Amino acid sequence: MKAVQYREFGRLPEVVEVPDPEPGPGQVLLEVTAAGLCHSDFAVMSRPPEETGLALPLTLGHEGAGTVAKLGAGVTGLELGESVAVYGPWGCGTCPMCAQGKENYCRRAAALGIRPPGLGAPGALAEYLLVDDPRHLVPLAGLDPVRSVPLTDAGLTPYHAIKGALTRLVPGSTAVVIGAGGLGHVAIQLLRALTPARVIALDVSAEKLDLARTVGAHEVVPSDAHAVARVRELTGGLGAQAVFDFVGAPPTTAIATGVAGTEADVAIVGIGGGVASVGFGALAYDAAVRAPYWGSRAELIEVLDLARAGAVDVHVETYSIDEAPLAYQRLHEGKVNGRAVIVP
Ligand code: NAD
Ligand code: ZN
Ligand code: ZN
Repeated sequence: MKAVQYREFGRLPEVVEVPDPEPGPGQVLLEVTAAGLCHSDFAVMSRPPEETGLALPLTLGHEGAGTVAKLGAGVTGLELGESVAVYGPWGCGTCPMCAQGKENYCRRAAALGIRPPGLGAPGALAEYLLVDDPRHLVPLAGLDPVRSVPLTDAGLTPYHAIKGALTRLVPGSTAVVIGAGGLGHVAIQLLRALTPARVIALDVSAEKLDLARTVGAHEVVPSDAHAVARVRELTGGLGAQAVFDFVGAPPTTAIATGVAGTEADVAIVGIGGGVASVGFGALAYDAAVRAPYWGSRAELIEVLDLARAGAVDVHVETYSIDEAPLAYQRLHEGKVNGRAVIVP
């Protein structure tokens, strides 16, 4: 089968031919119907494998959807041909976090060498994907795989971040979204669907700010040296009650803490090497900063339910598997509006 692999540090991913995988006992083989590209793939590829601990070559793709193609021995409860989305942050399945469905915070995954598909295990950017356990699969139940595959990360990650801030987002409150890309443009829609907050979106690109407005941002602000002052002005000097930084680079973590109001919740989601300053005088009174990772299995089910209710519409650009290197190039250059999805 064809697969898109990160093969060598410093080079773009390549499309190669690899053997078709076979499901072992307890595993499920999916014929991939859609796979999303995430900016985190660059976080993975920007560091040498000695640092990341990744074995190369690595088939990329941690947003996956497919139809059930083959069942390993002992697997029950799935129909051949069933259309499913893949829950990516695989855990051990039994520790206290996994028992709550929070496999993203599994206590034993690292020690057991369990890694998500595309971030250690072979990923979804291929014609077939091997899934270790049927519990990682959520039925799409009528959702289009191409338009919903980004919900497994670009939807689930902001959903998890926003859920942690819901008590702050009462009527009259403001939520700031920094970075209206793959995650950010879904975050804006989730905020509109789940809260009465006014949403202010920031980005460096005019095109992304247009998309932010289209998907529901009340205000858009260029992410520049005036951004903090502009957001303060828009909030009557008070700042925001919740801030979601989907860039996480030094300029944006400074904006994120700078626009936070008293008792704000600041979630640094982007992996851009930025560090938020916390300390008396550096941050508004009683504001809290956290760095959430992905989301739980239950939250993925909730996000898909929300999409089925029509509350979220992911903007996708589609590419064939052979065009994946081009799609990565465009993502790297900031040219993808919404999410790039590979349709093998
Ligand atoms: P993306 O490339 O689709 O979007 C990034 C957006 O940020 C773009 O619209 C870009 O124009 C904008 N941007 C760049 N610099 C900016 C700046 N200084 N100010 C404001 N906006 C700026 O990326 P994505 O796939 O949405 O991922 C976003 C970030 O989240 C990445 O760092 C990714 O690695 C990270 N991520 C984290 C998790 C997690 O669990 N914590 C999960 C998925 C992705
Ligand atoms: Zn991702
Ligand atoms: Zn676990």
